[in-house]
Amino acid sequence: MRCSNCSSEAVITVRWKGKSYCERHFRNYFLGQIRKVLDKYGVKGEIAVALSGGKDSAAMLEALTHFRDLELMPFYIDLGIEGYSEELRKISKELTKKLGLELDVIELKREYGKGVPEISKRKRSAPCSVCGTVKRYLMNRYAHEISADYLATGHNLSDMVTFALNNLINAQLSYLRAMRPVLPGNPEFRLVARLRPLYFLRDYETLVYAIINNIPFSENKCPLSSGAPTLKLKSWVMKLEDYSPKALLNLLKSFERIEERLEREEEGLRHCEICGYATSTRICKFCRLVR
Ligand code: SF4
Ligand code: ZN
Ligand code: ZN
Repeated sequence: MRCSNCSSEAVITVRWKGKSYCERHFRNYFLGQIRKVLDKYGVKGEIAVALSGGKDSAAMLEALTHFRDLELMPFYIDLGIEGYSEELRKISKELTKKLGLELDVIELKREYGKGVPEISKRKRSAPCSVCGTVKRYLMNRYAHEISADYLATGHNLSDMVTFALNNLINAQLSYLRAMRPVLPGNPEFRLVARLRPLYFLRDYETLVYAIINNIPFSENKCPLSSGAPTLKLKSWVMKLEDYSPKALLNLLKSFERIEERLEREEEGLRHCEICGYATSTRICKFCRLVR
């Protein structure tokens, strides 16, 4: 298979474009999709980059180093998952070292005395639900504390479509409000603006980008992930482009349109009585967990 832009050997076929690319032209395509997000929203300044040790956040960080006007501040949240968090932390460290950046680490156990497995056992809640609350809270708090202009996460197009479909399946329309590559912040509620640089890129595209650029990442599965229903849904979402090459992009557009029609419910925000961060209840979910 040959690259559609030159005669070199192709490493990937990007079906929605109907093109195959060699390493060099795939890199251009990949960075171009990120540039689309950055330019459209005029993103610049300090970016707190959330690293998980997986391929998406690793590819995101490396890709962002190709853009001027961005000051990158990578960080890693150690969730205290034995035999897993430690390895991902090491890999994140290796990556930032390779890129000449400093890595900040937030340790759940050191700060709160317990990791995700202990909290979920005690709360009798599913680990991923506890983990989600903890990550969302600590990522935003970290970005706020270092006064970052944006908090960047490695969610890609396949993740976004999976997330939206899952919400539709569970009839949770209000969660569709977050379907944007950039979400504005709200300083009054200490909410930092969110940035999803990989918003237009598919799962297999970030994987190929990470491999051809020798980006260190871990393929280990979280030992607590078994039974996460969204994993099944995601593998199904990834097959949608066999049916129609533009399926994911068009689904995303449809979700954005649904979102536009939904009423803005920002007025429902209030300050958590314990930590002061944004919540829709008297005490935020994270503080309830800690308590
Ligand atoms: Fe957290 Fe669940 Fe992901 Fe494990 S699989 S890191 S518990 S969200
Ligand atoms: Zn080429
Ligand atoms: Zn709180």
